[in-house]
Amino acid sequence: MPEGVMKAWLESSHLSGANTAYIEELYEHYLENSQSVSDEWRAVFDSLPKIEGADVEYKHSAIREEFRELAKQPARNVIVSGGSDAKQVKVLQLINAYRFRGHQNANIDPLGLWQRDKVRDLQLSHHDLSENDFDKEFNVGSFACGQETMKLGDLYKALRKTYCGSIGAEYMHMTSTEEKRWIQSRLESVQSQGQYSTEQKEEILKGLIAADGLEKYLGAKFPGAKRFSLEGGDALVPMLKELITRAGTHGTKEVVVGMAHRGRLNVLVNVMGKNPAKLFDEFAGKTDEALGSGDVKYHQGYSSDFVTPGGNVHLALAFNPSHLEIVNPVVMGSVRARLDRRDCDEGDLVLPITIHGDSAIAGQGVVQETFNMSQARAFKVGGSIRIVVNNQVGFTTSDPSDTRSGEYCTDIAKMVNAPILHVNSDDPEAVILATQVALDFRNKFKRDVVIDLVCYRRHGHNEADEPNATQPLMYQVIKKHPTPRQLYADRLNAENSIAKAKSDDLAAYYRKLLDEGQCTVEQWRPMTEHSVDWSPFLGHDWDDEYDHEISVSKLKELASSISSYPEDHPVHSRVKKVYDDRKKMAAGEKLLDWGFAESLAYAAIVDGGNRVRITGQDAGRGTFFHRHAVLHNQTDASHYLPLKNVREGQGAFDVHDSVLSEVSVLAFEYGYTTAEPNGLTIWEAQFGDFANCAQVVFDQFISSGEQKWGRLCGLTMLLPHGYEGQGPEHSSARLERYLQLCADHNMQVCVPSTPAQVFNMLRRQVVRPMRRPLIVMSPKSLLRHPLAVSSLEELSNGAYHNVIGETDEDIKPENVERVVFCSGKVYYELLEQRRKNEQNNVAIIRVEQLYPFPETELRAELEQYQHVKQFVWCQEEPQNQGAWYCSQHHFRACIPEGNYLTYAGRKASAAPAVGYMSVHVKEQQALVHDALNVE
Ligand code: AMP
Repeated sequence: MPEGVMKAWLESSHLSGANTAYIEELYEHYLENSQSVSDEWRAVFDSLPKIEGADVEYKHSAIREEFRELAKQPARNVIVSGGSDAKQVKVLQLINAYRFRGHQNANIDPLGLWQRDKVRDLQLSHHDLSENDFDKEFNVGSFACGQETMKLGDLYKALRKTYCGSIGAEYMHMTSTEEKRWIQSRLESVQSQGQYSTEQKEEILKGLIAADGLEKYLGAKFPGAKRFSLEGGDALVPMLKELITRAGTHGTKEVVVGMAHRGRLNVLVNVMGKNPAKLFDEFAGKTDEALGSGDVKYHQGYSSDFVTPGGNVHLALAFNPSHLEIVNPVVMGSVRARLDRRDCDEGDLVLPITIHGDSAIAGQGVVQETFNMSQARAFKVGGSIRIVVNNQVGFTTSDPSDTRSGEYCTDIAKMVNAPILHVNSDDPEAVILATQVALDFRNKFKRDVVIDLVCYRRHGHNEADEPNATQPLMYQVIKKHPTPRQLYADRLNAENSIAKAKSDDLAAYYRKLLDEGQCTVEQWRPMTEHSVDWSPFLGHDWDDEYDHEISVSKLKELASSISSYPEDHPVHSRVKKVYDDRKKMAAGEKLLDWGFAESLAYAAIVDGGNRVRITGQDAGRGTFFHRHAVLHNQTDASHYLPLKNVREGQGAFDVHDSVLSEVSVLAFEYGYTTAEPNGLTIWEAQFGDFANCAQVVFDQFISSGEQKWGRLCGLTMLLPHGYEGQGPEHSSARLERYLQLCADHNMQVCVPSTPAQVFNMLRRQVVRPMRRPLIVMSPKSLLRHPLAVSSLEELSNGAYHNVIGETDEDIKPENVERVVFCSGKVYYELLEQRRKNEQNNVAIIRVEQLYPFPETELRAELEQYQHVKQFVWCQEEPQNQGAWYCSQHHFRACIPEGNYLTYAGRKASAAPAVGYMSVHVKEQQALVHDALNVE
């Protein structure tokens, strides 16, 4: 095109800001096939600068930038002159509009109640097209219909069918052209209509019959009992069965499912294969004493196998407390553990499925956190299938407009460019197609994908609830609305696939299975596929013997190995100093500090063939610059991890800086540890009190999972704690909260005070076959305290001491008049002050494990102080915090009869610590003096 002509055309054309997306799309067409765009546009694109050697993506973004620049200029006339090329451009624009916004006019609400605005972009007239153009043939660009050209009438019909039928596909927000094209090819090629054989249709129908049949049966047999019925969302059952079958067919070995109450009993019986007789027993109030304090039936998890054409798939439904959405990171952690065990980085072998409520997915922040984790190195699992059972009522009674601000409840998924398939649950074949596309997308691109199963809730929040009270109009419609099973059976009957009589027979057969208390899932198989044996970890007591010896020579060998790194890996001078010191420690020239002893524990564990996994916000370096497990090359920023290089064939060592979250990271690690008993899993808080944000995980899972569900968990939590004048937020890890949660020997709460202790505490968590959570008040200033050092011999001793008695030889028991108990760093302040005071009548006893309280060890230690009358508990925390209230009865039970235990510590306070250094110092001195009885 001559330059002058092109200039005129450009000035009368589409180059205004509003059209950049459209032009971008045209440019994509042009890149794929330059003949697919009009001559004018080809001339424009031909004239754009070529970038030598750049790939298509790069050219694309460069051009987009170019158009963005153009868009900043004043808007030009956007009217195209009336030729057929102009129409062709408009047709491509129409296709684009359907891809972008078709979902907004899709038929996805089974009740037909959604008020949706007309989308102007979807009207022919918006694109200067009309039915008069229907017989004209146009190039369809990348529209994946298998033809290069189509009559506009056929194209329009195809677009409406593809994008405005029972599936509303929302995917054009995705930034990867390849992924967008993939979705287009899957949906456009079949116009969003799945083609299913009669057998497949029968399978879908059976799923609906089962979903409906169970609820009706339970409703009749246990009227008014809470079951959080699935009715209205019945398609979930055939959907899950399809997901599992298809995943298994493509090689998946395990599927882990997380879901809330709604429909859970149905999934347990009709997907997982739980025996209905067992469920009926639970309704009838029978208990399973093997499960400790137990849990309500709609929180129960389950494990089974499911046969597929690709072999058996192991299914695990995660136990789930009432707290919404918190099970998602637990599921992801469980999947990651199973993937790690199977050495599967890609995620193919284990599939996570999380099932969400429509209000919860939009309302609960933990959902955002798990999306954010989904591609992060420490947490990725090859993508999750996220299903929303969207019954259009928030929790009990709320309208969607009260529960979210976005158009869809699934908007949050756009933050990770996940495709979102909204699907009408009354069209089960569309549900199955959406399911297949979602799974295939996940397996191909290893990323999250969302299916928004738009359904309704036939009853109230639970079966005793009256939904008409708050949703009168909706429930008038629901009352008259046929069940999904009825609708589908009628449809199959009408199309002559499955006759009504056959559907009735299938329903009668299902009912018979329930009557006989038989498993209703044909694909159910007894468990054989799970890959870990928990039996070595069952039934242990705290005082069981375990093999904890480790020789000094072995320690020296490990110390020398982990204190060295390649010469051509220059590290920062401050890190070099840490490692130079470690070399001296390894050579026996220096006593070991905290960081090195801790690293040696990891070395000993991986040397023993077990794995170590540590996550936390600064886990690689350590918040307080003490760990340096990851050595950053100062020239090329590469990493070297000495702990990955201990020996050939060692256990894995993984340390990851986590995403900036507490609740979902801790829940993830809980999930990891409950699926993997071997090795050591640690979550480290940046400061101990940040764990407040994860309180739900401590309350609902860590402290009570074994008692409620019989699920062991050996997770270790390092919570930095100690009063160093850093103010209210950075002093206390809120020890009192953990002690208050302690009962039934549910977990350990430790406050180690020496490097040897931290070494042995961490090793104990692996070599002792007991798997219970370990809460550690870990230190800050002790990391560099000159007195907090240990010898290799002390490490080699190999046992964690729950109580450390007086170690100063100058303190003779017979001279002792006062015994001070304490935990943590205050010990060193008491010691230094006592030395300064030259007091030899005070013994200091460290209690290094506050729960389970080491009564036997403490009593043994106190044998030599039976004559003493003054017993004091000294703590840094205010009186209403720390160990005082929760642990004093344990101390009282151990001291000689007739004696009182007194308190030395800060007075009760609303905040954990003061904000002023000067006040802190004064308080600290006072409590130390008080404990030592110094005026
Ligand atoms: P799963 O792979 O989670 O389905 O678990 C399979 C079986 O392993 C369960 O039925 C339990 O018997 C056992 N199991 C799984 N996790 C744990 C755990 N955390 N503690 C004790 N036993 C477990």
